Amino acid sequence: MKDIELSAYLRRLVIGANTKIPLANGEYVNEINFDNAATTPPFFSVMKEITDFAPWYSSIHRGSGYKSKLSSNLYEHGREVIKKFVNADHTRDVVIYTKNTTESINILSYRLSQENKQHVVLSTDMEHLANDLPWRDKFQVEYVGIDEYGKLSLNDLENKLLKYKGKVKLVTVTGASNVTGYINPISKIAKLAHQYGAQILVDGAQLVPHDSIDMKAYDSPEHIDYLVFSAHKMYAPFGIGVLIGPKDIFEKGEPAYQGGGGVRLVSHQFIEWDSPPAKDETGTPNVIGVAALITGIETLNSIGMNVIHEYESNLINYAIEGLSEIPNIKLYCHCEKNEKRVSLISFTMQGIDYNVLAEILSLEAGIAVRSGLFCAHPYVEKLLNLSSEDLEYFHHNHDVPVPGLVRISLGLYNNYNEIDILLQFLDRIVRNKNYYKQKYKNIK
Ligand code: PLP
Repeated sequence: MKDIELSAYLRRLVIGANTKIPLANGEYVNEINFDNAATTPPFFSVMKEITDFAPWYSSIHRGSGYKSKLSSNLYEHGREVIKKFVNADHTRDVVIYTKNTTESINILSYRLSQENKQHVVLSTDMEHLANDLPWRDKFQVEYVGIDEYGKLSLNDLENKLLKYKGKVKLVTVTGASNVTGYINPISKIAKLAHQYGAQILVDGAQLVPHDSIDMKAYDSPEHIDYLVFSAHKMYAPFGIGVLIGPKDIFEKGEPAYQGGGGVRLVSHQFIEWDSPPAKDETGTPNVIGVAALITGIETLNSIGMNVIHEYESNLINYAIEGLSEIPNIKLYCHCEKNEKRVSLISFTMQGIDYNVLAEILSLEAGIAVRSGLFCAHPYVEKLLNLSSEDLEYFHHNHDVPVPGLVRISLGLYNNYNEIDILLQFLDRIVRNKNYYKQKYKNIK
């Protein structure tokens, strides 16, 4: 399929791609959503599945009714669809349904910390806070550094693995950055981690919706031990996330959430936990969310993750090329064309505050972007070269705005025309900075 036909086809898969919204002047335009790294709109197929499934929806597992059995089958079948999607091991891995990536990592950190709190966890300087904060109060955490372009330093990773030889329990790393769009070499990282006796967790929140991922066989040195991701970034925004990992790990220890559904037998004297995944899915589960995620995955599969990746790469490279030509725009990446990345990029415009720029784009052009530190504070702080003194200052002076970036993140339904509109507006803003600054001077 030619890019243009593919683009039109992909756009038709998503609900709300052509929604009219008001501008500051009262005119209505099609909203341009460049905030897909935060969350994505649903696929039509997902909404249809939910409507079709709704009459059959019922309580699962211990229900004896026909609908209950049907709902249970769908819920359990979902685990197989997910395993296949990421090439997890059909017998040794377990898929635990969670709310989202954040909850998945919190559940895992809680569980792993029950074994030995003396262990070291290697996180990295480029993580989303979801893959940083849950480790801090449970382990000794060290951060693998980044280079001058903000890329992960594999040398530093190896140095830290050497330094803490035998003590590193886990290397926890994002598959792709939600700030720079860099894709990390997870196979290489896995190999290194295993070489030093550690396991690896990949935060797949930004990678899984944009590229294929292979957890690889257990006997491969490049095997991914744990993988987490969120359905709401995969066109299935119905409150479901995933934690995948070795079943035997979850057989041990106590679950983070305790209550009904996760036990086999309880008396006032003892608790006998159910086996995983039920043990970690206490309370009434989100069956509709699972139905949505399965259909989301099936739709992504029907397009082909390689097709999605190629289309989105072309789009983001086009955007990067255009952005590089606009004066006063600074891009926060090593933006080589042949570099593998996911479809997002962050930038600043000299002389205009990042929040103001985001507001101008929204109110003048109907373009939704994100601005700030993108829940990746340490990473953005490093990209902006903020010193620890600077950070102390901002920490203690709440009336002083903290520096930040503007981010565009593309979904498979975005197109070249939308990027052209963004580029034209940015160019117009650069050339009329004082006019826009005066007009939006009250925006903080
Ligand atoms: N990890 C990364 C890289 C992210 O970009 C995000 C969200 O933007 C998360 C984790 C957290 O995802 P969720 O909010 O779905 O828990």
